[in-house]
Amino acid sequence: MRAKYIVRLDDACPQMNHENWHRMEELLDKYQVKPLVGVIPDNHDPEFTWPEDERFWERARSWQDKGWTIAQHGCRHLYLPEAKRRYFQKSHSLHTEWAGVDGEVQKEMMREGYNLLREHGLFPTGFFAPAHTFDGNTVTACKRIPELKFISDGYGLMPYRKAGMTFLPSICDGPFLMKVPGIFTFVAHPSVMSVESFARWEKFLQQAHNDVISIPKAMKKIKKQQGLLGHSLEYGIYAARGMRNWLKKIDLM
Ligand SMILES: [Zn+2]
Repeated sequence: MRAKYIVRLDDACPQMNHENWHRMEELLDKYQVKPLVGVIPDNHDPEFTWPEDERFWERARSWQDKGWTIAQHGCRHLYLPEAKRRYFQKSHSLHTEWAGVDGEVQKEMMREGYNLLREHGLFPTGFFAPAHTFDGNTVTACKRIPELKFISDGYGLMPYRKAGMTFLPSICDGPFLMKVPGIFTFVAHPSVMSVESFARWEKFLQQAHNDVISIPKAMKKIKKQQGLLGHSLEYGIYAARGMRNWLKKIDLM
């Protein structure tokens, strides 16, 4: 099996960088790629400061109409003031909206976010948390909404089942041409993409657009469990990121 790819776009909301998103949409249309797009139900993130687009929800529905898969991306995309460390998967990130939050509160956040998207005419079929940080209670909250069938996160080369949930792993941002077989999710943040990063995506899509698959296709390739490889990847990536952070720190001193 050749390497296959999922394209994921993060942080769609009324306050996103509309020009950049438009450019990304044109690029994906050119190569007939149907991405996974994470929509923030009720954005409160002070980082997204572009002028609010009143037609945003209409635009998001048009993505859905042309076969893009909608995911619920957090609830408000607002990080907790203090870092928590109770993560579902290993993470060095100190930012989280979900990890460590009381389980009942998480259920309410999940339901509130989901209902808001539905009120805007969107039908999310999966979830992913801001900053890749969530815990077991997030998975439980997600399972309470049967329409949310996957979490776009985790470590592995193929989609897998864990804790009664399907994970579509996302081990690095990319995009790269992978030499090993697997289904790799590459993440773009269109709002903050540079000219160079648009060029990198265009080059990648030129070479690999036939190997980019939609979420419904990827969902048919689920392995029973994460297995030893998944655990090794999780520890390996955690160690590598720890080392990178440590080197960065030394650099700063
Ligand atoms: Zn985000």
